[in-house]
Amino acid sequence: MYDIIIIGGGPAGLSCAIYARRAGLSCAIVERGFIGGQMTTTYSIENYPGIKEISGFDLAEAMRGSAEALGCEFLEADVKKIRDLGAEKEVVCENATLKARAVVLAMGAYRRKLGVNGEERFTGSGVSYCATCDGNFFKGKNVTVVGGGNTALEDALYLSNFASRVTLMHRRDEFRGARHLSRLVLENDKIDVMYDTVLTNITGKFKVDTVVAQNVKTKEEKELPMDGVFIAVGTVPETGIVKDLITLDEAGYILTDETLKTNVPGIFAAGDIRKKQLRQVVTAAADGAIAAHMAGRYINEELSE
Ligand code: NAP
Repeated sequence: MYDIIIIGGGPAGLSCAIYARRAGLSCAIVERGFIGGQMTTTYSIENYPGIKEISGFDLAEAMRGSAEALGCEFLEADVKKIRDLGAEKEVVCENATLKARAVVLAMGAYRRKLGVNGEERFTGSGVSYCATCDGNFFKGKNVTVVGGGNTALEDALYLSNFASRVTLMHRRDEFRGARHLSRLVLENDKIDVMYDTVLTNITGKFKVDTVVAQNVKTKEEKELPMDGVFIAVGTVPETGIVKDLITLDEAGYILTDETLKTNVPGIFAAGDIRKKQLRQVVTAAADGAIAAHMAGRYINEELSE
């Protein structure tokens, strides 16, 4: 039996493991894919405190190295289910059932794909899902943002600090995002808004150079020269395995309090999987530390009674 099983090996899970081991708690990270999570697909990280510039892959490796050196176990498995038996939790994988006193859910979330031609091919070569991560690479360039929610509005505003022009394409004639953000977007001279518009094609030779926009009402298509495409059409949390156990918000994110407790005693959530305002490596790492601390407190105080 482990003290803590951490599900997910992104920055939240890795930071959680580091704090758990330093507190003398036994722990394992269960991950079905790459250690590092979404971070590994980020070409360059320039906003992690203390590090001027690092590739997502290198930062993930460094975090994994710290967790490993402190004695965290890494298990490659696809978790199917979690059973809450009170003082004991069961993490059910395909070929084994693991037991722990506490569980930290750190499976993350992924940006929803648009599903248009060229999107996959040019991801990392002009197509991005993270304006905060990649905006700096588009100084003086033309970029488009797709979406009409808060993320798209904030991305358009953020990118207007770098790009020469930002074209915001939204499939309806009214934004879903907050009114004050909509107003800031509409007042911004560098942002052109195309309502009732969908992006139907992304083309280029080695990187993005043209996009095709279609008006959904008139069906008219326009080819626009473009250097970057930021897709902000929602995120999808990886909460499928806990949806019957843990309280989620309407979008499927885990609800926690500020101590990262979920509705189930002994189960905590950290990183992008939980309802929060800013999903970044640094906020995930901070969550991991808090979750480890609170899980340790739960084990020491509530399970020893
Ligand atoms: P969201 O609110 O779900 O908005 C997604 C947007 O993408 C919607 O405008 C939607 O259009 C559009 N969309 C979805 N699928 C599409 C498709 N296939 N083609 C074209 N457009 C598509 O997602 P989000 O903006 O990422 O925000 C997620 C959550 O985080 C929200 O609860 C949001 O309020 C919150 N958030 C808050 C803040 C903040 O408060 N500062 C910042 C960022 C995010 P429709 O409108 O037509 O459905």
